[in-house]
Amino acid sequence: MATLRTRFAPSPNGALHLGHAWAAIVAHDRARAGGGEFLLRIEDIDGARSREALVPEILADLAWLGLAWDGPVVRQSARLDSYAAAAGRLRAMGLLYPCRCTRAEIAAAAKAMGPDGPLYPGTCRGRDVDPAGAAWRLDMAAALALAGPLTWFDELAGAQAARPDLFGDVVLVRRDAPASYHLAATLDDATDGITVVTRGADLFAASHVHRLLQALLGLPVPVWHHHGLLVEAGGRKLAKRRGSPSLGDRRRAGEDGPALAMSLRTGRLPTGIALAARLDCPA
Ligand code: GLU
Repeated sequence: MATLRTRFAPSPNGALHLGHAWAAIVAHDRARAGGGEFLLRIEDIDGARSREALVPEILADLAWLGLAWDGPVVRQSARLDSYAAAAGRLRAMGLLYPCRCTRAEIAAAAKAMGPDGPLYPGTCRGRDVDPAGAAWRLDMAAALALAGPLTWFDELAGAQAARPDLFGDVVLVRRDAPASYHLAATLDDATDGITVVTRGADLFAASHVHRLLQALLGLPVPVWHHHGLLVEAGGRKLAKRRGSPSLGDRRRAGEDGPALAMSLRTGRLPTGIALAARLDCPA
């Protein structure tokens, strides 16, 4: 049996807030309850949004909450070669094609919405597009034909039939980053030996794509645990601009971190905050 291993994988694009604390607690406690390991992975490959100065803040926030991680902190920015190698394999399998469409062009031409926004209408598929500086998209129909029907298991939602087709031809290599979230997270979870992928229910649909990538690249298949999200009482996501203090704000104000973590665990939520059980779960 593989060691039970979970991870918390924040993107250092903004200060962590209560929702991140909840995600980290779920991952940490899921590992500890089974005698497993809890890893910390910094998802720092978004050159435009990622801020190095936030990384020590993240470490301090977790320590303040009383959440100790195992092993060295993993950095996506140290793994660019592995993303390039996987993209190269998918390209050699004939499953990727370059695309130079802008967001605005896609939004104008899209006929439907997918889980990540306007569904790519396939404009560049089969065209002779200059790959220099292009994004690379997965030819979803070809990938599905190769992989066949797939299933995955969520500890809370049960068995799922994989529906990566909902995403259409997803971007796996971005124009402005060496991998998309989908490719990098899937590869990292395999590299790190993650056996239970915990993350918010807002990313439930992403697991359909990740399951397909695991099949295409011959990666181990974890189980998933998509937890509910902390939201404002009206149902909106927490946002600092609407007065939800960051964990750093709370820490610097002298709040008791372990006590806050315990109150989240026991459902004693701060005023105006609620736990939304499932946000984005089809089925
Ligand atoms: N980096 C993602 C985020 O901060 C989390 C991705 C994941 O857990 O798979 O939302």
